[in-house]
Amino acid sequence: MTSWRRDWITKPIFGWAQKALPSMSETERAAIEAGDVWWDADLFAGNPDWDKLLAFPPAKLAPDEVAFLDGPVEELCDMLNDWQINHELGDLPPEVWAFMKSKKFFGMIIPKSYGGLGFSAFAHSEVVRKISTRSITAAVTVMVPNSLGPGELLHQFGTKEQQDHWLPRLADGREVPCFGLTSPEAGSDAASMTDTGIVTMGPGKSGNVLGIRLNWHKRYITLGPVATVLGLAFKLKDPDNLLGRGEDIGITVALVPTETDGVEIGRRHMPSGQMFQNGPNWGRDVFVPMESVIGGQERVGQGWQMLMSALAAGRGISLPSLSAAGIVMAAHTTGAYAAIRNQFNIPIGKFEGVQERLARMAASAYVIDGARRLTCAALDMGKKPAVISGIMKYHATERMRTAINDAMDVHAGKAVIDGPLNYLTAIYRGIPIGITVEGANILTRCLIIFGQGAIRSHPYLLSEMLALGHKNKDRALAHFDKAFWAHVGLAVKNLFRAWGRAWTGGRFAPAPDAGPATPHFRQLSRYSAAFLLAADMALLTMGGALKRREMLSARYGDILSELFLLSAALKRWHDEGRQEADLPVLDYAMQTGFLTIEQRFDEILANLPARPIAWMLRFFLMPFGIRRRGPSDALMQATAEILLTPSATRDRLTTGIARDAENEGLKRLQRAFELVTAAEPIREKMKSLGARDPAIALERGFITRAEAEQMKILAEAVSAVVAVDDFAPEEISALVKQKSKGDVPSQPRPQPQPPQKSKPQPKPKPPRRAKAAAE
Ligand SMILES: Cc1cc2nc3c(=O)[nH]c(=O)nc-3n(C[C@H](O)[C@H](O)[C@H](O)COP(=O)(O)OP(=O)(O)OC[C@H]3O[C@@H](n4cnc5c(N)ncnc54)[C@H](O)[C@@H]3O)c2cc1C
Repeated sequence: MTSWRRDWITKPIFGWAQKALPSMSETERAAIEAGDVWWDADLFAGNPDWDKLLAFPPAKLAPDEVAFLDGPVEELCDMLNDWQINHELGDLPPEVWAFMKSKKFFGMIIPKSYGGLGFSAFAHSEVVRKISTRSITAAVTVMVPNSLGPGELLHQFGTKEQQDHWLPRLADGREVPCFGLTSPEAGSDAASMTDTGIVTMGPGKSGNVLGIRLNWHKRYITLGPVATVLGLAFKLKDPDNLLGRGEDIGITVALVPTETDGVEIGRRHMPSGQMFQNGPNWGRDVFVPMESVIGGQERVGQGWQMLMSALAAGRGISLPSLSAAGIVMAAHTTGAYAAIRNQFNIPIGKFEGVQERLARMAASAYVIDGARRLTCAALDMGKKPAVISGIMKYHATERMRTAINDAMDVHAGKAVIDGPLNYLTAIYRGIPIGITVEGANILTRCLIIFGQGAIRSHPYLLSEMLALGHKNKDRALAHFDKAFWAHVGLAVKNLFRAWGRAWTGGRFAPAPDAGPATPHFRQLSRYSAAFLLAADMALLTMGGALKRREMLSARYGDILSELFLLSAALKRWHDEGRQEADLPVLDYAMQTGFLTIEQRFDEILANLPARPIAWMLRFFLMPFGIRRRGPSDALMQATAEILLTPSATRDRLTTGIARDAENEGLKRLQRAFELVTAAEPIREKMKSLGARDPAIALERGFITRAEAEQMKILAEAVSAVVAVDDFAPEEISALVKQKSKGDVPSQPRPQPQPPQKSKPQPKPKPPRRAKAAAE
């Protein structure tokens, strides 16, 4: 039966699939093969196992990690004055650099055996998150050495000698790393770089040695201007076949000490007003010995795979942590400000328009932090969930953008006027950085989340594609036959499952017994089945063309993302002890997410090119159209209320913010918030007796002298918050002058040209290696 099926049915389908299914370039293959699948695969398979999700151990800190957060991290935050950094110094103060290095902030991911802190992904994320609540500049400075770059690459792929040499120096800050991938021509399409390395002989420690002559021009490189070692990505060529592997070897990553002759580094960009070190660098005929390649000679040409593998994990930590901090800061400060700022004689937080924004911030804070913790838990279980990392990168930064914009709108003039008292503009200006780096967001949404997710997280697609590419024809057919028929079996089962769940409104879909949250689990089970069916139909009817239909792909990505983010919110609710008081924020998040999911399905069905398939899907999945309406007004009000008054729920939402030592604006806000809460009963009493002015209320005997005094102190505290900075004209011109004197080049810098193969190359100078490297 099986061989009959294989020859008569599978074979023609195999031929068709070879043409129809998306083909993979080498760089795509590397991206897809990097990392793992995890909970995303369960969501994709149409029937998530909720008990499995709820049983995942929540992310936890070890005692030394807690001590680090309460000690050095708080101390560092106390030292940070963001206004001074961004507007006066244009850099972190020297004592902050020294403190970061001495406390090993740059060595969080380096194992203890190499002198690093050896922290878990969760601890690493918590540190970045807390610092981000104080200064984006400081957070980025800490993020980079712990993210994609020399530390991570050496740790994963370095030779023993490289690890022994570099990791202890990176851990204690003797060496400052940066990572150079982006060049002017190659941004999102980083693999198209024109930076080159030519295998050649050159001067080394022991005479003439085999090495690489490099020519490059990179830009936007964080920590570049102060780096002592540059992790450089370039295309390696071996025209004389010295390595015996042909001419084109491929993308390779090497460590280049920045003191090496021919390296030009030090000039700075000014990224969106955030004065972390970032700049371009160039190299002209820079010779490095072969042992500079990360992982040694055997890893030449493997640079792209190495980068993708490091990115699969790193993308899930740095920007999601920074974004979670931004959202929490927006929620915390805006809730407090809306509680103390009165207009038309009532706190602005009582206006429904403001409540709409507060509710959105609270829900984003809840969801994104829940998803961050779940992602860290996966990383700490040894997973590298590549698709989830992409989802986190995109959605955390996008939701930060929305939350900060909401915070700006509610604070209005108070947030617009710049100065040391303003606690929002620095984060506001920093938003485009998060959106752009580690995979610019439009590309991440349109190309990566579903483009990669469909192949990676789908139960059978990757096996089918790998079978199609198998060199041995018989084996290819056998593998394909197995995967394809399992796929068909699942597809048929899932069709009935998705249909049944849609037509019953998900009422009987599987869910754990989670009290008031049970219906939310049921809905996700329903949408998960619908998603697999809709994804299968798109792949069947569009095959490789789906890759070019970015708008469709993005909508599929949005659904997969919502499934992940909402399941992370449910997991958070479960892990935090199923708090009844947190239900409004959870319900708000779920209702908003369900509406997004139904809208995206509707848009997909309206645009799927195979119209009969779209009509069929509509019949099975959305027989009654979009049924969701999002959160009700009452739910929005209840959710907003959480940010307006102190409570355990508010504390859970805004946990992890650095104490307000140096930030005068935040200190004033916190004080006024506490006072306004304490004075609420007096206010209520005055209101019920029709007295607005405490002096008159005292005169009429409505309140006591002590209460009148309390109201006076509150009024002063509120005035101090509402105050904004002003400057003498000469102070402003001094600030502007200082900026215009900065490091921005007035002329484009001369750029090195890639060496022409036909021209004789100048003899490379002996490398003047960095002092540390020579040790
Ligand atoms: C502050 C800052 C720090 C950085 N730090 C580093 C660093 O340390 N090391 C390093 O190597 N690089 C770094 N980068 C570079 C960063 O990774 C790139 O900026 C990013 O990859 C995007 O490249 P680009 O800016 O040239 O945009 P482009 O590639 O020109 O993209 C422009 C727009 O087109 C969109 N787009 C491109 N292709 C597609 C597609 N196929 N489908 C849909 N949309 C698409 C993008 O999403 C983007 O919106 C940094 C950048 C900044 C701004």
